[in-house]
Amino acid sequence: MNEQLQQFLSGRIWLREHTPFPREVIDAHIDSGHIHLKPGITTSTEPNLFWQSKKNVCNRCHNTNQSYFHSFNCARCNQICTYCRHCIRMGRVSSCSELLLWDKQHARGANAHVFAWNGKLTPLQQKASEELLSSVERNESHLIHAVCGAGKTELLFPAIFASLQAGKRVCVAAPRTDVILELFPRFQKVFPNTTIHALYGGAPDQHGFAELVLATTHQLYRFERAFDVVFVDEADAFPYYADETLQQAVTKAANPDAAIHYVTATPTKSLKTTNQSVLTRRYHGHNLPVPRFDSLWGYTRKLKKGKIPPKLEAWINKKVEMKTPFLIFLPTIEMLENFPSDLPRVHAEHPYRKELVMQLREKKIPGLLTTTILERGITIENVHVAVVGAEQPIFTSSALIQISGRVGRSVQYPEGDIVFFHHGISREMDKAQDAIEGWNRA
Ligand SMILES: [Zn+2]
Ligand SMILES: [Zn+2]
Repeated sequence: MNEQLQQFLSGRIWLREHTPFPREVIDAHIDSGHIHLKPGITTSTEPNLFWQSKKNVCNRCHNTNQSYFHSFNCARCNQICTYCRHCIRMGRVSSCSELLLWDKQHARGANAHVFAWNGKLTPLQQKASEELLSSVERNESHLIHAVCGAGKTELLFPAIFASLQAGKRVCVAAPRTDVILELFPRFQKVFPNTTIHALYGGAPDQHGFAELVLATTHQLYRFERAFDVVFVDEADAFPYYADETLQQAVTKAANPDAAIHYVTATPTKSLKTTNQSVLTRRYHGHNLPVPRFDSLWGYTRKLKKGKIPPKLEAWINKKVEMKTPFLIFLPTIEMLENFPSDLPRVHAEHPYRKELVMQLREKKIPGLLTTTILERGITIENVHVAVVGAEQPIFTSSALIQISGRVGRSVQYPEGDIVFFHHGISREMDKAQDAIEGWNRA
């Protein structure tokens, strides 16, 4: 048996043509029963009263929504072939594709894990951390409901370490690449002897058997029965909560009997877990900055004419003068692109997003214009925040809570300005403000 192949395929469901091993090696392992083959797409014909309807299932992403399936003249099989558009970004899966699954003797980690964290948990964090650990040991699902800046990542550490030491394979999944990029170096420091892979679209190749996998929820389409313990961070974030197949991807990536744990500041009602811990305080003990509302009547029209509304301009000038780093959230890419200013801007398709956030942190640029892409997962010391058009539907109460959560995160600067500029106050704005005030009172 080829050990590298075993390490590569254990827990994965992988397109044959993407597997970096010679054909003969793969064939030999199919013959010996180590690798199980699955067709890319299974098509069944359902007899109907009047006609026969075809039903496709993608065996990688488990998509069954027929509008995502397309047929084409396939050069490989010389037939009419069907492919799945739902997971096309990870390479095309079609009827004649072969998916490889490792069937026997899964790889095991061989590392002696080390827990190199010497930070201290606050009493609130400590309590939640112990509750989570106890749920993980009993294999019962657990929800950590923590305000932004409560320090939720570090309270996962003991549960992750205990799982690794028990020989379990652990996954920390988050809907957004930015979150994975922020978590990866932290986890590498805390678990220096553990093989950790960080998987996201465009991630570099990583070798060996990872006992700990950090992955965007999208990447979990390529796993099957891989993990004994799964933590979903930011479980309320788009696109996870809106996309049922992503939720299935998490379930499919976990072993059938593995409990799935969630961490979020803004849980959706559909999240159901056996146990729960609530953290209403930030790790530094200070109140959460409460967003203030300020009218910015007719801002759309003014911006279209190439003018920054005076109130907003004054806000920007003041931050530049005081050398306070700032973020301005805009509701649409169009408004972001056309904003009449030299300020750098970022959105989801922006290749330099990471670098620009770094430059803001290092005070090389005064501020950033952004879409909701930066609503979570980033920490910038002493950042002040303005939301322009806070009444627009993209700014749900959870988005507004997350955005407000960027402010006042560090001990040195526990306060900061968070302003919702609006053309009329929305219910979602009220809901966000009420929730934050409620936590401060709790
Ligand atoms: Zn698919
Ligand atoms: Zn084909």
